[in-house]
Amino acid sequence: MPEREFFKRYGSGEAFRSRAPGRVNLIGEHTDYNGGFVLPAAVDRDIRIAFRPSEDRTVELHSLDFNETARFELSKLERGAMPAWARYPMGVAAVLQAEGFALRGLRGVVKGDVPLGAGLSSSAAFEAASALAFCRAGEIELPRERLARICQRAENEFVGANCGIMDQYASLLGRRACALLIDCETLSHRTYPFNETLARIVVLDTRVKRTLVGSAYNQRRSECEQALAILRRHAPELKSYHDLGVAMFKAFAHDLPEPLVRRARHVVTENGRVKEAVKALQSWNMVTFGALMDASHDSLKNDFEVSCRELDILVNLAREVRGVYGSRMTGAGFGGCTVTLVEPKHVEEFIRTVSSGYRAQTGLEAGVHVFTPSEGASVESIRP
Ligand code: ADP
Ligand code: MG
Repeated sequence: MPEREFFKRYGSGEAFRSRAPGRVNLIGEHTDYNGGFVLPAAVDRDIRIAFRPSEDRTVELHSLDFNETARFELSKLERGAMPAWARYPMGVAAVLQAEGFALRGLRGVVKGDVPLGAGLSSSAAFEAASALAFCRAGEIELPRERLARICQRAENEFVGANCGIMDQYASLLGRRACALLIDCETLSHRTYPFNETLARIVVLDTRVKRTLVGSAYNQRRSECEQALAILRRHAPELKSYHDLGVAMFKAFAHDLPEPLVRRARHVVTENGRVKEAVKALQSWNMVTFGALMDASHDSLKNDFEVSCRELDILVNLAREVRGVYGSRMTGAGFGGCTVTLVEPKHVEEFIRTVSSGYRAQTGLEAGVHVFTPSEGASVESIRP
């Protein structure tokens, strides 16, 4: 925890701590930037910033995980010679200022335990924790939805990662013991209880470096846009995939060339699966929920083509184990993690069987996380 180091460095006295969790997406992959639906949950891993507002316009942050200090002036935000991790708080400060908010400097210590670069969105967690810190320091009150958009803008424009809104939304608006349905077109959301006595969320990390992910992600985004432009010739009222149902898609799909037809089919069917998954959650039908996760993976693998050998191995191994409701890749793809829903009493057996199978087939050690849906970001006072 960063508090102890903070008080050691900056002395006792009034201080604050913001925290923001990573997230796992249960279903609804590659739909957020298409105006579709996603169903993530905030996880019980977070990034914390212990901080104190200062009288000046200097931000000094020490990262315990990188053992490095970054210092920047709010009046002169340049990426320049900064450590890479400092781009996230800098980006959030830059966007808040661009949107007209007067910020104060701060001194802080950062520590996190969201696995980095695994698709659990440590970046969004860091942005959300930074946003809450700057808002508290500057005495700025903003709705969480607005903060999520500010954080997304920071990642898009300052860090240069072309992400959708899901991660920041989940980190800022997630609720304990709930999944969060987000309509990425209208930016409205609703929480649904996730019954943990029925299923555990197990995330397995392939530990494969996602080398292709940046370029392929941008390519998929553009393919989805091209497909939509063609579909709009038949249905000019479509603004995004939000209102494109399976029946309408089928009626016009003959116009789409390969691979656009499969890309669009993934998005359309995935949106349908998210809506079905919410119904399954409401009736506590984890068997149906799991079947939808399986179908999601198959669609991501065959139609969207963003899986990889290691993800498929983990998913195939998982589906053979007793007590598994469903398993799929989660995140952008080409590595990163799978998410599996497992009956609580079979979790240990699941982890043992899949880990050893994965080791045998790849020579790799899968990372294992059992997550509890957790409360979204918060900020509070702390004492030495
Ligand atoms: P993901 O969001 O999937 O975890 P990203 O590449 O988008 O992966 O973001 C990871 C980056 O976020 C890290 O390289 C680092 O710059 C920053 N980051 C994540 N966690 C921390 C942390 N605990 N402390 C400082 N920076 C962090
Ligand atoms: Mg990220």
